Amino acid sequence: MRKMMGMKFFANAISVYRNYCSHSFSNSIVQKAYESGNKVKKNKPKVHKAKIKLTDEQNNVLDHVRGGLSVFITGSAGTGKTVLLKHIIKILKKTYGESGVFVTASTGIAACALGGQTLHSFAGIRIGDGNRGMLLDLVLNDREARRRWNKAQVLVIDEISLVDADLFDKLEYIAKTVRESDKVWGGIRLVVSGDFFQLPPIFKGHDPSRKEFAFEADCWDASFDIQVELTKIFRQSENRFIKLLQGVRRGNSDPEDLQFLKQSCSASEPHPSAVRLYPRIDDVNKVNEEKMKALSEEQVIYEAIDRGKKPWKRQLALGLAPDKLVLCKGARVMLIKNLNVMHRLVNGATGIVTGFTETKGGTVLSPDNLLPVVKFDSGPEMVIEPQKWYVMVGSRPVAWRLQLPLVLAWALSIHKCQGMSLDRIHTDLSRAFGYGMVYVALSRVRSLDGLHLSGFSPSKIKAHPKVLEFYSHLA
Ligand code: ADP
Ligand code: MG
Repeated sequence: MRKMMGMKFFANAISVYRNYCSHSFSNSIVQKAYESGNKVKKNKPKVHKAKIKLTDEQNNVLDHVRGGLSVFITGSAGTGKTVLLKHIIKILKKTYGESGVFVTASTGIAACALGGQTLHSFAGIRIGDGNRGMLLDLVLNDREARRRWNKAQVLVIDEISLVDADLFDKLEYIAKTVRESDKVWGGIRLVVSGDFFQLPPIFKGHDPSRKEFAFEADCWDASFDIQVELTKIFRQSENRFIKLLQGVRRGNSDPEDLQFLKQSCSASEPHPSAVRLYPRIDDVNKVNEEKMKALSEEQVIYEAIDRGKKPWKRQLALGLAPDKLVLCKGARVMLIKNLNVMHRLVNGATGIVTGFTETKGGTVLSPDNLLPVVKFDSGPEMVIEPQKWYVMVGSRPVAWRLQLPLVLAWALSIHKCQGMSLDRIHTDLSRAFGYGMVYVALSRVRSLDGLHLSGFSPSKIKAHPKVLEFYSHLA
């Protein structure tokens, strides 16, 4: 049986090996940071412990978790789902030990916020392409992935709205098969969180009959003992703004509220420190390039090195690593690969380039052999070295790209910022598309003061009918 699936996979699967390998990195990069002179040192991450008093509804969920239940936690943006998850993770780790609790999220940035890894990286399914047999085969051929599935007693997943129904079912199948158990998820407890009114999973092509949302998965209901909705919103405190956001979330906004939004947030110029959010990646790139130019610092150009046969090599450009990366001192950057999960140097971690250091040996990506030094927002400062991205046929690499695992991060896509709380944003929604996008963008900011808006029109606000129906049943 196993062998047959393996053959099928080798025949069919070609996938870009993106940023989903986390386990095999040692501390060597952090170590190098220590060794390469005075300028580069690893600072102890600063821990700001804000005293948060959980509400009764949050505490109720904690009690269910203490009682050993599998839970789905939902609620509007900013109801403290992620904050609650952090408390839950602490309790779970006390109960099951560090090694029994796997913390994941659907995006790198959300995973970073919880000190976890992406769901794909945990699962060992690379970019998740292929039928369940192919994905199972990837896992079975990866000793570390098998170990994770077998060790897991609890799996935490944040930002579930971006995980599609099929993937949810496939992962449940993998769990059962790897763990050789008939129980749902092979006996792994789930603690899952997210808001389906936010961004839906991304699909290529259009197929109206397709299941989309994770709540449509065959195993969804069986996966949870309880499904709870948090109702108290913390991220925002202005009642008018909260009411407005609730309308946008459900796609039935009060026209007066929208008029008020337009008037109050579109007048003056955006604040210079505002993070810029865009629906489309080409706008993100344009703004990042402009910000770089404005720094007027000497730029270092890193050209990716691609190797392999032509048809495979072309696929490298579809991955996350850019063909050409331009950096300078002061550039705001984000990691696009997990370097060291323990040190929270994971896909989504942001920081600033503080300088460059000369390399000795290794493959050269820049003319002067310079590597950037990045001070991460989470504390560590380190030299960033080139990493490899592979195109695989089965378990055989057929092409690879060598590039620094960084992108510029003054501007972000709305997709990437789901889950963040931001003080000041400027968002241009003229190119917004699909469901939930306007809601995700607007609900990032804590107050109307910090919101600057352009390109907004009420027709861009959309809530998916299936999501409305799911929540009507939940209530
Ligand atoms: P969500 O994941 O639901 O979008 P977050 O967990 O990111 O929301 O929380 C949003 C904001 O609300 C954060 O700034 C967080 O500190 C705050 N918050 C969450 N729960 C509480 C609480 N019980 N008391 C005070 N502030 C809270
Ligand atoms: Mg969250």
